[in-house]
Amino acid sequence: MIASTRFRPFSRRLLVKLSALALIAMLLVSITQAVLINRSERQNYQALVKQLTSTQIPLLQTALWDVELGTIDRQLQRIAGLPPVAAVHLLSDTGLDIRAGEPSVQSQPADAILLIPSPFDTSVPLGELHIYYQHERVMQQIMSSIVQRILEFSLYTLLIFLVLFRALQSELGRPLNQIAEYVSSLKPQRHPPGLKLPRRTRDWHDEIDLIVDGFDTLRKGMSHYSEQHECVMQALASERDSLDLHVARRTREFAQLNSYLRLITDKTLSLMNLNHAEYPEALRDTLAALCQYRQFDACALLDQQAGEPSRYRLGWMQEKDPVWIEQIKALDISAGEPDWSIQRLSERTLLIRFIGPQTSFCCALRDAPGTFEPTGDELTLGTGQWLFSLVQHWDHVIGLDQARQELIQMSHTDPLTGLANRRHFEAHQLGELRRASRLGYAASLLMIDVDYFKGFNDLYGHSAGDDCLKALGALLIGSFKRAGELPSRMGGEEFAVLLPGYDLEGAVYAAEALRRSIHALAIPHEGSIWGQVTVSIGCASWQGTGEPDKVIESLLNTADAALYEAKRLGRNRVATPYSSDSPSNDVAGAPVVPG
Ligand code: GH3
Ligand code: MG
Ligand code: MG
Repeated sequence: MIASTRFRPFSRRLLVKLSALALIAMLLVSITQAVLINRSERQNYQALVKQLTSTQIPLLQTALWDVELGTIDRQLQRIAGLPPVAAVHLLSDTGLDIRAGEPSVQSQPADAILLIPSPFDTSVPLGELHIYYQHERVMQQIMSSIVQRILEFSLYTLLIFLVLFRALQSELGRPLNQIAEYVSSLKPQRHPPGLKLPRRTRDWHDEIDLIVDGFDTLRKGMSHYSEQHECVMQALASERDSLDLHVARRTREFAQLNSYLRLITDKTLSLMNLNHAEYPEALRDTLAALCQYRQFDACALLDQQAGEPSRYRLGWMQEKDPVWIEQIKALDISAGEPDWSIQRLSERTLLIRFIGPQTSFCCALRDAPGTFEPTGDELTLGTGQWLFSLVQHWDHVIGLDQARQELIQMSHTDPLTGLANRRHFEAHQLGELRRASRLGYAASLLMIDVDYFKGFNDLYGHSAGDDCLKALGALLIGSFKRAGELPSRMGGEEFAVLLPGYDLEGAVYAAEALRRSIHALAIPHEGSIWGQVTVSIGCASWQGTGEPDKVIESLLNTADAALYEAKRLGRNRVATPYSSDSPSNDVAGAPVVPG
């Protein structure tokens, strides 16, 4: 804005205005002077007319009356010589025409005409005196007066200009320029330079001093503001630095927390699908990883069920320290207020405890030397809670494994007799036949059926039938205890025994021994021709090559056929199939006499 316009110094503008004013003043003064001179001349003319009327007219009256031409001429010369008069012209009624003064002005109308009366009768004129004034002289007087005024004014104005210009320059223009330069160089800084104007020392002050004083106040204000601004900026910078540190520390903590959570998640997941045999080792590994992460050198877990002594569950130590472990084992972990708590057992040992109505838990953590960690932080409590959940999960795994074992046992066992059931028998049989095939030894199968058992039930009731079956089951269990022998209940009153390593002869022998043992039980059965419970047994044997899966069926069928044969031949006997390629066709079943 300023740069785009022309610079016009204030002093010059002031001087231009003053010049204009001086010119106007000069003009007004000149006009006034001219008017005054003009008026003064008119008064002079009137005074002259009066003077001439009183002095010269009577003289001219006498001279005219006496026709003294020389006197008239002298008189006229005298009048024409008076200062304001340029020329005179006397005209008498007698035709006298006398002129004096400058002839050039006499062609113009007279400025004043004085009547020269008769000495005896004033109403009768003797002649007229025409007076011509010196108008040029008046004009010259006016002009010289104006020129004089102009010169005076000009000189005066010039002097004033010089004084004013000098004063304006030294007292206003230069200081203002310096102030402007100072202001344009002024910046918001801590110690801006002061405004020093080269002015002489005075015992008074003016507006420039007020401005300088104002700028000094402004400078101090700016300095104060800059100091405050600098302080604020420094505070902000240190705040920003501390914020950076804070963020970096928080980020590190979050990263640590994240890796800690990952450790917990990984370890928890790895522990989820373990059985109870694998669990302790995996939990110990977990404790080792936790201790390494949290800089513990020992960790021990204890729990206690209501009414039971506390149990040391598991521990991990960087280096063995039986004294510390014994100290931990001796703790009464259920004593205290029910809830979670963290306490220091010693300078390095931290206890995270839970006391509940049914279960109490204690996790002892020992800081590695020189890594004392303050107690009570959420993370430590969370660690304890996590370990407690792992121990509880361990208990669940143990319970689940026990339940699973029981379930497997139940699914393999016939509930009435305690013998293996048919499903288990078939699975077992397949395994045994594979082994026999691999090792090249024989395997035999006994199919056992109680004779006239329907009649037994009818005679003695179903419950007595069950008891009978239980007694037979117990006998079978007691009779076949060698490895691989598996007495089983195939259904109803039918049993089977797999005899690995038995050929047909051995099988028939074992079957006969079993039949005798059952006979020896002497369970009364009035519906039987033998008056007691007896069994018929079919034997089949196998040795050789072939797919065990396919052999099973033929072995079962063969043993079944032999059993059928034993029944057909009269019951209470051991039989083998007839066919020549069958494993027991040489041992034809014949009625066996009891005892
Ligand atoms: P056989 O000498 O020809 O074998 O004649 P049996 O009467 O023994 O044969 P049958 O197949 O006619 O009868 C079998 C009986 O076994 C019928 C059934 O009441 C009885 N039984 C099957 N399972 C059980 C059981 O779990 N408990 C009892 N008490 N009886 C059973
Ligand atoms: Mg039957
Ligand atoms: Mg039967």
